[in-house]
Amino acid sequence: MSSTSLNPSCPFCHRLSDTNREPPGELVWSFPNSIAFLGRWQHWQGYVVLVSRHHCREPIHLQPEELLGFTQEMYLLARAVEKAFAPNKLNYELLGNQVEHPHWHIFPRYANEAERLQPVWVVISAAETASNCKEEIAMLEAGELQRTEICHKLKTTLKLLNAPRNPE
Ligand SMILES: [Zn+2]
Repeated sequence: MSSTSLNPSCPFCHRLSDTNREPPGELVWSFPNSIAFLGRWQHWQGYVVLVSRHHCREPIHLQPEELLGFTQEMYLLARAVEKAFAPNKLNYELLGNQVEHPHWHIFPRYANEAERLQPVWVVISAAETASNCKEEIAMLEAGELQRTEICHKLKTTLKLLNAPRNPE
């Protein structure tokens, strides 16, 4: 049973409504309660966004079993990021200030980051307001590996962890 249907004005609902549109290397995993996408900012290599299959403003508005499943899938995805990329630390963030649809950001943090004590958003915001913002943003979007390679590494690791897949 689903808590709500998709909302046509929501960018995540739009994305979930047809995952066949996703270019290669963007959809990481299709879980029963959520879908994992590769995140924009691959300066933090392995950054993923886990989007609930159900639209609502607050995660606490999900049905209890959906919330439990979504949370378990977040931790499993985080384990895969850790195993695949061996970061120094993981950041888990569920904000929803810009898009009111439950989604987790999982950011691997690395020991060589100058701003490792700050949330990544401080770094992203500084890049967006810099005089050379195009270059700064491009630098934060790029990882050492190509997006398809990062995605492949995560998929392989999720398979090893026997991550559940949505029957589609
Ligand atoms: Zn939505």
